[in-house]
Amino acid sequence: MSDTNQFEIERLGASQYESPLKLSTTKGDHLFNFVSETDRLVFDLSLEQYNHCLNTGTTPICMEQAGPRQHIFFESNKTTAAIVTCGGLCPGINNVIRGVVMALHYFYGVKRIIGIPYGYEGLNPAKGHGFVELTPEKVRDIHQFGGTFLGSSRGAQDVGVMVDTLQENHVDMLFAIGGDGTLKGVNALGEEISRRNAEISVVGIPKTIDNDIDLIDESFGFETAFDVASPILRDAHNEATGAYNGISIIKLMGRDSGFIAASAALAMPVVNFVLVPEMNFGLEGENGFLKILEQRLLQKKHAVIVVAEGAGQQLFEHRQEIKDASGNIKHEDIGVFLKEKIAAYFKGKETPVTIKYIDPSYIVRCAPANSSDSVYCSRLAYHAVHGAMAGKTKFVASKVNNKYVYVPISEVTKKRKKINLEGEFWFSVLQSTGQPFSLG
Ligand code: ATP
Ligand code: MG
Repeated sequence: MSDTNQFEIERLGASQYESPLKLSTTKGDHLFNFVSETDRLVFDLSLEQYNHCLNTGTTPICMEQAGPRQHIFFESNKTTAAIVTCGGLCPGINNVIRGVVMALHYFYGVKRIIGIPYGYEGLNPAKGHGFVELTPEKVRDIHQFGGTFLGSSRGAQDVGVMVDTLQENHVDMLFAIGGDGTLKGVNALGEEISRRNAEISVVGIPKTIDNDIDLIDESFGFETAFDVASPILRDAHNEATGAYNGISIIKLMGRDSGFIAASAALAMPVVNFVLVPEMNFGLEGENGFLKILEQRLLQKKHAVIVVAEGAGQQLFEHRQEIKDASGNIKHEDIGVFLKEKIAAYFKGKETPVTIKYIDPSYIVRCAPANSSDSVYCSRLAYHAVHGAMAGKTKFVASKVNNKYVYVPISEVTKKRKKINLEGEFWFSVLQSTGQPFSLG
């Protein structure tokens, strides 16, 4: 194993305690239930990579396998854990909170678990939010509800103040459930903790409804999002077909990456156009979106358009860059804009069209997790707990190549995952919708 592997996870120190988990320690016959600290999984599974390593005698790039360790860093019954949820809502946050609490309490016997209210604000005493004591009884039923039981927030807090709060409250491990901003935030806490030579593990559980976290297979809640969006598309199609030249426009979430819009359209193949942030499309001209829409209406007398919130931002002429509390650029409303442009175009031609604009964004993101996401959330939570108890820090628990692994936060936050417009996934969207390769 190469020492320079970029995916190696930092550790607070040597694991000196025996895990309280009653798992088999017999090697051989596959009875060894603990994951060894040296267990690695190859990241790039291609034959090309395999041949390259064979020819050059190099070790492939690997990731640490997630799971319970036989020896752990923290003494379970003296450990204090804290959980914080930040950024936008996403299905499954409560399942993750519940999973972390249950695993800490029942697997490891951790007695003190603190819920940090309203995101990183809760780590700033000046905000006066206090803490919530988390017990199995408290979190027993929360998986049935969408949203976050702890509350969330955006906006920067002072890293030093937050680490002071963790130290003053003798927190040994912090689980941060959130998107790229939250993960960068918790990594910054980890850096400050290292600078102070403190022994606090910081763990990220990637939450982004947009599925735009790099390297990982999928983020939790994403599947529920397009699951919830599918029947909305079905009904929007009914609306469109119910009128002569009926047009339904449905805006879905997707600030920089259009995975929800694309996946929902594949799941409910009644959609004729999917517009995503990754595309640079135009409205005017012979190959422009409006002309292609007109041709579609001539043939079929209805059209269903799914647009991701971050799509078509280049179409706004006098765009002002407005940011939210966390510095994320607030997008112009592409849904309303498209509705107006389509209406104006057909008015000019005196073609009667009926346009329905539907924006279910907040309904989608507040839904409780579906069964598949619920399974995923629990397993992510358990793996996060195993990693933290082993003294790992500045890592996310996630799934890569369909296996649970630990990845350094710094690696998953380097860039956003986006739809590859040359790839098989987007090609399947084009096949499903019948829209041309390029619009305008
Ligand atoms: P979403 O997917 O909903 O955008 P997010 O986690 O990216 O989730 P943000 O609002 O961008 O949501 O960030 C959450 C929190 O992380 C905010 O309190 C923000 O100030 C903090 N944060 C973001 N980036 C950093 C950073 N580089 N260092 C420290 N804190 C950060
Ligand atoms: Mg974000």
